[in-house]
Amino acid sequence: MAKMILQVRPVGPWQVNAHVLACPESGESVLIDPGEEPGTLAEMLSGTCAVAILLTHSHADHTGALDAMRTTLRVPVMAHPAFAGGPIDRGLADGATLAVGRHRLKALHAPGHTPDQICIAVAGEESIIVGDTIFQGGPGKTWTPADFKTTLETLRRVVLPWPDDTRCYPGHGRSFRLGDIRRDIESFIARDHGRFCGDAVWEMRGSPGPQ
Ligand SMILES: [Zn+2]
Ligand SMILES: [Zn+2]
Repeated sequence: MAKMILQVRPVGPWQVNAHVLACPESGESVLIDPGEEPGTLAEMLSGTCAVAILLTHSHADHTGALDAMRTTLRVPVMAHPAFAGGPIDRGLADGATLAVGRHRLKALHAPGHTPDQICIAVAGEESIIVGDTIFQGGPGKTWTPADFKTTLETLRRVVLPWPDDTRCYPGHGRSFRLGDIRRDIESFIARDHGRFCGDAVWEMRGSPGPQ
């Protein structure tokens, strides 16, 4: 079976990566993180039949065009059950799956950056839309030491078990292969970061405390 077709386009002032995943056999598709620019998003979806809008988390930069796209597409909006960015039609708890044509997506709860953060994995393929869970240079920003601890737990429990060849598609910036940053993540979580929270990079050392 052919792989799902993935399109990525940075939209809006924060250059959020909007993603479209389409089943090449049926033409069904999902739109992930309608950050801004409804026209760009419609262009990405053209020639496919959208079946859902998915949100990786509730931050405004990822949901700016949600109302516009919900109105034009008239498809269910799906996110984690704890989604804090307005009403949704279906909650995707950890492990929940969604059929897109002959393919299947799976939600993985990845709290830390926000409590409602999910990663969206393409079943049977090594592609995962990770939202703001991780970037090539570090984990997503946190605003309290408790959230940072949750991020460390998510890295350990959710992210590190993925195979090295997993292609991670973040909410901002370029995609990367998990194996290329595995060592960085492992040494990052092995260090004592004290009561840190904020913008972290893998190389960070010591415990600078809350910023
Ligand atoms: Zn975010
Ligand atoms: Zn973001």
